[in-house]
Amino acid sequence: MQYIQHRLNFLLSPRWVYNAGALLLALLFSLFASLSLSLYQVHDEIRHDIDHLDQIVSVAIKYGLEKPTLSVDSTVSGECSIDTIEQLEKLYVSHLLMSIPIVSLDKQHPYTYCSPFGVEQFDETNFKNLLNTELKGEMWRLAIVSLPTAPKNLTYLYGSNGINGFLFPLRTEYLFLENDLDHQRSIRLSLQHVNYTILEIGSMPTSDRLYSNAVDSKYLPLTFEASVSTARVLSRFYEQLWPATTILFLVSFTVLLLCVSYWHAKKEIALQKAIRDAQFFPYYQPIVDAKTGLMVGVEALLRWLPSDGQIIEPRKFIKHLEQSGAIIPVTENLIQTVYQELSPLMDQHEQFYCSVNITPLHLQNDDFYRYLQRATLDCSKLVLELTEREPIDDLELARQRIVLLKTLGVKISLDDAGTGYGGNSYLHCLDIDTIKIDKMFTHSIDEGQSAVLDGYIEMAKQLKLELVAEGVENEREARGLLLRGVFHHQGYFYGKPMPIKDLKAWCLSHGFSECKDELVTEEELKVSH
Ligand code: C2E
Ligand code: CA
Ligand code: CA
Repeated sequence: MQYIQHRLNFLLSPRWVYNAGALLLALLFSLFASLSLSLYQVHDEIRHDIDHLDQIVSVAIKYGLEKPTLSVDSTVSGECSIDTIEQLEKLYVSHLLMSIPIVSLDKQHPYTYCSPFGVEQFDETNFKNLLNTELKGEMWRLAIVSLPTAPKNLTYLYGSNGINGFLFPLRTEYLFLENDLDHQRSIRLSLQHVNYTILEIGSMPTSDRLYSNAVDSKYLPLTFEASVSTARVLSRFYEQLWPATTILFLVSFTVLLLCVSYWHAKKEIALQKAIRDAQFFPYYQPIVDAKTGLMVGVEALLRWLPSDGQIIEPRKFIKHLEQSGAIIPVTENLIQTVYQELSPLMDQHEQFYCSVNITPLHLQNDDFYRYLQRATLDCSKLVLELTEREPIDDLELARQRIVLLKTLGVKISLDDAGTGYGGNSYLHCLDIDTIKIDKMFTHSIDEGQSAVLDGYIEMAKQLKLELVAEGVENEREARGLLLRGVFHHQGYFYGKPMPIKDLKAWCLSHGFSECKDELVTEEELKVSH
């Protein structure tokens, strides 16, 4: 269990959290980017469809209009002779079978024509006029027409000068559009300004339409409307899921990893500089005997003051210091400063002590012990707060180191008890002097749910351990602790962490030996025990 917790903690360390964040961000970015790319491609696709269709129609008209006229003789015969049909067939083939040449059979009946397939009789009511235009001195008429002989939904683009003409079948295969104009993509060709659909390719239901693009023809009074469905975008997206998304993911992940590494390296360099330039210094938070109002000690809490900035709190740099191992020299410097700054208080007050935070790293080898040994400090004034929030890899080794440290006179306090890895095993294996009640349990008094706190207090009594409650923020909590027999308090209610200058002022204003207002009377105390 402890092993799993350790691994979990490693995975949740800042470096891993940032790397995992980079991974997630790269993944989201690459998916978003390839989805956008798919949207862009699909949009481009329908624009291309429209341009293509417009060009095809205009080319068909151009071919039709440019074809050599048949001899007028063939038109006066009033019948569709074999000779005329042959001529028309030749023309049809020479124009790549795009538009069907026609020739008027009877000037009196302008809608009866001879085509390569025989006689074609148009119904004038079917004509949807496009435009009348003058070409080489002749009036040409362009229209959309459906032939009675042709399948019902087949329409033709018709052009004629009354004698010669052409029919261009508006069919998918003639328009050279891709075959996948189906339920995902569709095109509608309509007459401008009139709600008349000439041609609809693709059978996409209106409800599936993601978006449409309607464009007027550059050459004719026609409107092309291309629509695309969500399914089309998604199928494009799946197509490029592996190639584009993978490349985008790899590139963005690499860039983000480089940024994270750069950021870490920058922080690492800044911390190294901070150590070199002695930018770390202690804030002190009073620990008060709430029964007497006397300050019994302080906890030294690390602060960082970069040369060009504001004071930075530990949560922003402690993890980095621990990961790089730099926390050891930093703690050593801190202890040195603490002894320099607090020596008057330590000298004047026999019982006064200072708590300094340590991590399992301090117990991994003998370096920290050797430092304290060499430093020739009065270690009886030093309490080392070992946090339970960090896992100890080798509990037996830690036990031995603590035994060694205690030969110097230091006391060991179990910080953040009940909130981390220990699960009471630290209490069981290590020679602990004091339990530091975490603010979470102190606040439980206020919340009326103090069962765990009461359990800890009972356990401390059984194990004959000292108790210090931290995070005391108000009178109710202070009273509750006192009534439970917890006398040493630390928290904003008494004083916030502060630099040495302010601590001195705090001592004066609180008259170090002066009592605070009585929180509980002697009577109340007697009743509670
Ligand atoms: P900690 O050892 O549990 O220290 C107590 C934290 O609670 C301090 O935060 C303190 O400012 C805050 N605190 C004190 N009274 C109250 C209160 O009444 N209410 C609330 N809400 N908070 C209160 P700080 O100074 O930001 O330190 C945070 C943590 O950083 C410390 O937690 C400790 O684990 C770590 N730390 C600080 N200095 C050092 C150090 O020199 N070495 C190591 N290894 N860790 C340190
Ligand atoms: Ca602490
Ligand atoms: Ca704590």
